Amino acid sequence: MFELEKRDIKFLSGVGPQRAATLNKELGIFSLRDLISYYPYKYVDRSRIYAICNLDAHMPFIQIKGEILSIEHAGEGRQSRLIAHFSDGTGVIDLIWFQGIKYVEKNLKVFKPYIVFGRPSVFNQRIQVAHPEIEPAEELQLSTIGLRPFYMTTERMKRMNLHSQAIEKMMRSVIQQITEPLPETLTPELITEHHLLSLTEAIRNIHFPQNTELLKRAELRLKFEELFYVQLNILHYAHDRQQRFRGFVFGKIGSIFNTFYQQNLPFELTEAQKRVIREIRRDLGSGRQMNRLLQGDVGSGKTLVALMSMLIALDNGYQACLMAPTEILANQHYETIRSMLFGMEVRVELLTGSIKGKRREAILKGLLNGEVQLLIGTHAVIEENVQFAALGFVVIDEQHRFGVEQRAKLWKKNVQPPHVLVMTATPIPRTLAMTIYGDLDVSIIDQLPPGRKPVTTLHRLDSHRESLFHSIRRQIAEGRQVYFVFPLITESEKIDLKNLEEGYLHICEAFPQCTVCKVHGKMKAAEKDAQMQLFVQGTAQIMVATTVIEVGVNVPNATVMVVENAERFGLSQLHQLRGRVGRGAEQSYCILVTGVKLTDETRKRIDIMVRTNDGFEIAEADLKLRGPGDLEGTQQSGMAFDLKIANLARDGQIIQLAREAAQHVIETDPEGNSPHYALLWKQLQTLRKEMTNWSAIS
Ligand code: ADP
Ligand code: MG
Repeated sequence: MFELEKRDIKFLSGVGPQRAATLNKELGIFSLRDLISYYPYKYVDRSRIYAICNLDAHMPFIQIKGEILSIEHAGEGRQSRLIAHFSDGTGVIDLIWFQGIKYVEKNLKVFKPYIVFGRPSVFNQRIQVAHPEIEPAEELQLSTIGLRPFYMTTERMKRMNLHSQAIEKMMRSVIQQITEPLPETLTPELITEHHLLSLTEAIRNIHFPQNTELLKRAELRLKFEELFYVQLNILHYAHDRQQRFRGFVFGKIGSIFNTFYQQNLPFELTEAQKRVIREIRRDLGSGRQMNRLLQGDVGSGKTLVALMSMLIALDNGYQACLMAPTEILANQHYETIRSMLFGMEVRVELLTGSIKGKRREAILKGLLNGEVQLLIGTHAVIEENVQFAALGFVVIDEQHRFGVEQRAKLWKKNVQPPHVLVMTATPIPRTLAMTIYGDLDVSIIDQLPPGRKPVTTLHRLDSHRESLFHSIRRQIAEGRQVYFVFPLITESEKIDLKNLEEGYLHICEAFPQCTVCKVHGKMKAAEKDAQMQLFVQGTAQIMVATTVIEVGVNVPNATVMVVENAERFGLSQLHQLRGRVGRGAEQSYCILVTGVKLTDETRKRIDIMVRTNDGFEIAEADLKLRGPGDLEGTQQSGMAFDLKIANLARDGQIIQLAREAAQHVIETDPEGNSPHYALLWKQLQTLRKEMTNWSAIS
């Protein structure tokens, strides 16, 4: 049997040890198997011949058929070059060589038919092709070339002459050596049911497609396979976790929950909140350990849902804890929750890095003997020395700032892992959530509390600042507060800080009667807190800040959010920022300030923001505009396998199919020992061994 994974790339003809080392290092290609899994990023149709009169310099590649009229030398020394004037009867273009001139000249013949292929450019208003591929027309069978693959190469590879063509050549030689079918990686049922190509056919056609139809089918097969194993992995993992860990059973609703619900809750829950609380209650009573993702737009009332769920834990004799990503947010949650529990006999404590000494000791002691029932804090709560008597429920707010490993630490805080509720205000499109949080059950609050006025979003040019300031003065005169947010890009912190400082001075000048506070990431925590407090207490009317205020800060009296250089923010970031206003009864505004010149993409982003307040719509648009790679949080999300061909933004339908197929396998063969699926389980094992950044909870 022809085992591609056992054949080292360096023995392939034309490779050798040096190129092999480069391929190892740059692309992680070691074996022939690795090589054939390195897919082209695009194809060029080589069956098509253009007329010179129809060419334009923006075409990525051109192919023409004609004759050389004459050849000349031009330039001196380093400038010297060979120029062939080439015509097909409809026009003339120049073919140019800067290197290997002698060799080229010797081999080219005037008035002989050639086919020329290359990338056009314009020089002195003439179209030219530098270093084209040129071959005698009668020798080249274009129909056998068809779609020609192009492979991504790195700078370093290019320096070693490992261009796309070189990879193509290697690929051709390997594919020609495949004379018997490659071992299948999907079961016959999956292949038939989804009308997939065999692996061998797919590999052949992904590299050298016979036609576009077969290329599409090859792509489908390979994408499906990739996404299928991502889903099988994540579902298997979730299933396994369920098998290994029992969950605490919180069977009763007791006096703490009821007192809160009947006496302390100042408003009606929204239908969405009620539904989610029911979903959580069902989990808590099931005997399984809950791992649930709670999605809900900013201001949808997630904190309240979290609190009521924690009270159920308390009613059943367990402790609960809520982790926030920053001290400011932890403080805020602590204050909110304490006031909500006013008059009730629940001991709530706050634990952050700045709580030290006697106070800290007392809290730690209270946690250990069970007197502290509810703990609110930052990641300080997962430190080794923080021990609980009986931790039963954990809420993680705004999980983007918490890595998977930090989550894992929580599990060890009790003999059995506590129930976990992860809350996020960044809506995640469904198919993406399936892939990235595919092991979590999802609850969604898709409704805002009544009486909220949707935030009005406006786009303003920075050249019209005066009229903007004018309307802001009116808001301040009415007693409202205003945020000004400046962008932050880490590579140029100095410049950003300068922008912020300048903006701050400018704003102080423009609003001489106001107190203006300032918050940015380079400040010491205490200083930041002090500035923040000025705003929270209403002493300052204006806050100038970088995106540190993005997450969770709640100042209902703030009604204007001005985003400076809005073009430099991503959609979900803008949406988060907008969520800082519109929290009170007054009409609020989000003002996106940009320059006049905007790229198409920026314009689209701004338009979407102006058009809709729907977080899910924005998340979908964001995914389409940016692709998932950039999406905040995806890097540390613990997605198991690198995707080589599937695209989370575009392949939603295939993700859905793959998910259903994987689910079916897990349901029919939960223990993974049916010979029927042996092939799939074995392949999953192989992939797991290969996977690079699988940092899942151990
Ligand atoms: P999120 O964390 O989802 O952004 P919060 O939990 O901070 O939202 O809630 C935002 C505000 O709405 C809080 O002031 C909260 O007290 C209030 N709130 C929550 N649920 C309701 C409700 N059902 N009716 C009225 N107000 C609510
Ligand atoms: Mg919140």
